[in-house]
Amino acid sequence: MLESLNDLLPQMQCGQCSFNGCRPYAEAIIAGEADINQCPPSGDVGIAKIAAFLNVPAKPLNSQFGEHKPRSVAVIDEAQCIGCVKCIAACPVDAIVGAAKWMHTIITTECTGCELCIAPCPVDCITMLPLKNPEFSPSNLRAKQRYLARQQRKEMEALEKTERLRQQKARLLAN
Ligand code: SF4
Ligand code: SF4
Ligand code: SF4
Repeated sequence: MLESLNDLLPQMQCGQCSFNGCRPYAEAIIAGEADINQCPPSGDVGIAKIAAFLNVPAKPLNSQFGEHKPRSVAVIDEAQCIGCVKCIAACPVDAIVGAAKWMHTIITTECTGCELCIAPCPVDCITMLPLKNPEFSPSNLRAKQRYLARQQRKEMEALEKTERLRQQKARLLAN
Protein backbone atom coordinates (compact mmCIF):
# COMPACT_ATOMS: atom_id res chain seq x y z
CA MET A 1 0.00 0.00 0.00
CA LEU A 2 2.82 2.40 0.92
CA GLU A 3 4.63 1.97 -2.40
CA SER A 4 1.40 2.23 -4.38
CA LEU A 5 0.59 5.52 -2.63
CA ASN A 6 4.17 6.72 -3.07
CA ASP A 7 3.92 5.96 -6.80
CA LEU A 8 0.94 8.34 -7.06
CA LEU A 9 3.12 11.22 -5.84
CA PRO A 10 5.18 13.35 -8.28
CA GLN A 11 8.57 12.09 -7.02
CA MET A 12 10.03 15.60 -7.00
CA GLN A 13 11.32 15.11 -3.43
CA CYS A 14 10.84 18.88 -3.04
CA GLY A 15 9.70 18.85 0.60
CA GLN A 16 6.84 21.31 0.10
CA CYS A 17 4.52 18.85 1.85
CA SER A 18 6.69 19.44 4.98
CA PHE A 19 8.18 15.96 4.77
CA ASN A 20 11.64 14.96 3.62
CA GLY A 21 10.50 13.53 0.31
CA CYS A 22 7.55 11.77 -1.28
CA ARG A 23 7.86 8.43 0.51
CA PRO A 24 7.95 9.98 4.01
CA TYR A 25 4.83 11.96 3.06
CA ALA A 26 3.10 8.75 1.89
CA GLU A 27 4.10 7.11 5.19
CA ALA A 28 2.64 10.04 7.14
CA ILE A 29 -0.66 9.90 5.22
CA ILE A 30 -1.01 6.19 5.95
CA ALA A 31 -0.14 6.78 9.61
CA GLY A 32 -2.82 9.47 9.81
CA GLU A 33 -0.19 12.13 10.52
CA ALA A 34 -0.67 14.13 7.31
CA ASP A 35 -3.62 15.11 5.18
CA ILE A 36 -4.00 14.08 1.53
CA ASN A 37 -3.84 17.67 0.24
CA GLN A 38 -0.34 18.80 1.21
CA CYS A 39 1.51 18.20 -2.08
CA PRO A 40 1.44 21.30 -4.31
CA PRO A 41 2.99 19.55 -7.35
CA SER A 42 0.17 16.96 -7.24
CA GLY A 43 -2.48 19.68 -7.47
CA ASP A 44 -6.16 18.89 -7.33
CA VAL A 45 -5.86 16.19 -10.02
CA GLY A 46 -3.20 14.32 -8.07
CA ILE A 47 -5.07 14.78 -4.80
CA ALA A 48 -8.18 13.28 -6.40
CA LYS A 49 -6.12 10.19 -7.35
CA ILE A 50 -4.82 9.89 -3.77
CA ALA A 51 -8.36 10.25 -2.43
CA ALA A 52 -9.68 7.58 -4.81
CA PHE A 53 -6.84 5.23 -3.86
CA LEU A 54 -7.56 5.67 -0.15
CA ASN A 55 -11.33 5.68 -0.69
CA VAL A 56 -11.74 9.00 1.12
CA PRO A 57 -13.34 12.26 -0.09
CA ALA A 58 -11.11 14.52 -2.22
CA LYS A 59 -10.35 18.01 -1.00
CA PRO A 60 -8.65 21.07 -2.52
CA LEU A 61 -4.91 21.63 -2.17
CA ASN A 62 -4.07 23.24 1.18
CA SER A 63 -2.49 26.54 0.06
CA GLN A 64 -0.52 26.68 3.30
CA PHE A 65 1.91 24.27 1.58
CA GLY A 66 2.23 26.24 -1.64
CA GLU A 67 0.48 26.67 -4.96
CA HIS A 68 0.20 24.22 -7.83
CA LYS A 69 2.27 25.46 -10.77
CA PRO A 70 2.58 24.21 -14.35
CA ARG A 71 5.53 21.88 -14.84
CA SER A 72 8.80 23.72 -15.43
CA VAL A 73 12.40 22.87 -16.16
CA ALA A 74 15.65 24.35 -14.82
CA VAL A 75 18.04 26.11 -17.18
CA ILE A 76 21.60 27.22 -16.35
CA ASP A 77 23.09 30.37 -17.82
CA GLU A 78 26.31 28.56 -18.62
CA ALA A 79 28.30 31.75 -19.22
CA GLN A 80 27.68 32.78 -15.59
CA CYS A 81 28.30 29.36 -13.99
CA ILE A 82 31.43 29.25 -11.80
CA GLY A 83 31.45 25.46 -11.42
CA CYS A 84 30.85 25.36 -7.67
CA VAL A 85 28.91 22.04 -7.92
CA LYS A 86 26.36 23.17 -5.30
CA CYS A 87 23.47 22.55 -7.68
CA ILE A 88 24.63 18.98 -8.34
CA ALA A 89 24.64 18.33 -4.60
CA ALA A 90 21.08 19.64 -4.34
CA CYS A 91 19.50 17.79 -7.27
CA PRO A 92 17.64 14.69 -6.05
CA VAL A 93 17.52 13.01 -9.45
CA ASP A 94 21.03 13.69 -10.83
CA ALA A 95 19.68 15.89 -13.60
CA ILE A 96 22.75 18.17 -13.62
CA VAL A 97 26.12 17.39 -15.14
CA GLY A 98 29.37 19.25 -14.56
CA ALA A 99 32.58 19.15 -12.59
CA ALA A 100 34.32 21.45 -10.12
CA LYS A 101 35.36 24.73 -11.79
CA TRP A 102 33.70 23.66 -15.05
CA MET A 103 30.44 24.79 -16.60
CA HIS A 104 27.33 22.86 -15.52
CA THR A 105 24.28 22.02 -17.56
CA ILE A 106 20.84 20.50 -16.98
CA ILE A 107 19.69 17.22 -18.51
CA THR A 108 16.29 18.68 -19.26
CA THR A 109 14.60 15.33 -19.90
CA GLU A 110 15.48 14.24 -16.34
CA CYS A 111 14.60 17.51 -14.57
CA THR A 112 11.41 17.23 -12.50
CA GLY A 113 11.20 20.99 -11.92
CA CYS A 114 11.60 20.64 -8.15
CA GLU A 115 13.53 23.97 -7.92
CA LEU A 116 15.90 22.59 -5.27
CA CYS A 117 18.93 23.73 -7.27
CA ILE A 118 17.89 27.39 -7.38
CA ALA A 119 18.65 28.53 -3.82
CA PRO A 120 22.14 26.99 -3.48
CA CYS A 121 23.50 28.70 -6.63
CA PRO A 122 25.76 31.53 -5.42
CA VAL A 123 25.58 33.47 -8.69
CA ASP A 124 21.84 33.04 -9.38
CA CYS A 125 22.44 31.60 -12.82
CA ILE A 126 19.67 28.96 -12.68
CA THR A 127 16.15 29.86 -13.74
CA MET A 128 12.98 27.86 -14.21
CA LEU A 129 11.28 27.91 -17.60
CA PRO A 130 7.81 26.56 -18.39
CA LEU A 131 7.92 23.09 -19.89
CA LYS A 132 6.41 23.42 -23.35
CA ASN A 133 6.01 19.70 -24.00
CA PRO A 134 5.16 17.53 -20.95
CA GLU A 135 6.45 14.51 -22.88
CA PHE A 136 9.96 15.80 -22.20
CA SER A 137 9.38 15.58 -18.44
CA PRO A 138 10.39 12.37 -16.65
CA SER A 139 7.56 10.11 -15.52
CA ASN A 140 7.00 9.57 -11.79
CA LEU A 141 8.52 6.11 -12.16
CA ARG A 142 11.60 7.42 -13.98
CA ALA A 143 12.15 10.16 -11.35
CA LYS A 144 11.70 7.64 -8.55
CA GLN A 145 14.24 5.26 -10.10
CA ARG A 146 16.81 8.04 -10.48
CA TYR A 147 16.20 9.25 -6.93
CA LEU A 148 16.66 5.73 -5.52
CA ALA A 149 19.80 5.19 -7.62
CA ARG A 150 21.23 8.43 -6.26
CA GLN A 151 20.39 7.46 -2.69
CA GLN A 152 22.15 4.11 -3.16
CA ARG A 153 25.21 5.81 -4.64
CA LYS A 154 25.39 8.28 -1.76
CA GLU A 155 25.10 5.44 0.79
CA MET A 156 27.90 3.58 -0.99
CA GLU A 157 30.09 6.69 -1.01
CA ALA A 158 29.49 7.18 2.72
CA LEU A 159 30.43 3.55 3.43
CA GLU A 160 33.59 3.88 1.33
CA LYS A 161 34.55 7.06 3.16
CA THR A 162 34.04 5.39 6.54
CA GLU A 163 36.19 2.46 5.42
CA ARG A 164 38.94 4.78 4.14
CA LEU A 165 38.99 6.64 7.47
CA ARG A 166 39.07 3.34 9.36
CA GLN A 167 42.05 2.13 7.34
CA GLN A 168 43.80 5.49 7.75
CA LYS A 169 43.32 5.33 11.51
CA ALA A 170 44.57 1.74 11.62
CA ARG A 171 47.71 2.72 9.70
CA LEU A 172 48.36 5.64 12.08
CA LEU A 173 47.96 3.40 15.12
CA ALA A 174 50.30 0.80 13.60
CA ASN A 175 53.08 3.37 13.08
S1 SF4 B 1 6.45 16.12 -4.73
FE1 SF4 B 1 4.78 16.33 -3.23
S2 SF4 B 1 4.99 14.55 -1.91
FE2 SF4 B 1 6.90 14.73 -3.04
S3 SF4 B 1 8.21 15.91 -1.65
FE3 SF4 B 1 7.22 17.39 -3.06
S4 SF4 B 1 5.40 18.06 -1.96
FE4 SF4 B 1 6.13 16.21 -0.93
S1 SF4 C 1 17.86 20.31 -12.15
FE1 SF4 C 1 17.10 21.54 -10.42
S2 SF4 C 1 14.89 21.71 -10.79
FE2 SF4 C 1 15.66 20.04 -12.08
S3 SF4 C 1 15.37 18.19 -10.86
FE3 SF4 C 1 17.45 18.89 -10.45
S4 SF4 C 1 17.30 20.20 -8.65
FE4 SF4 C 1 15.22 19.92 -9.45
S1 SF4 D 1 25.27 26.22 -8.34
FE1 SF4 D 1 25.25 27.75 -10.01
S2 SF4 D 1 27.38 28.41 -10.21
FE2 SF4 D 1 27.42 26.55 -8.99
S3 SF4 D 1 27.78 24.92 -10.51
FE3 SF4 D 1 25.56 25.09 -10.27
S4 SF4 D 1 24.90 26.52 -11.86
FE4 SF4 D 1 27.12 26.73 -11.65
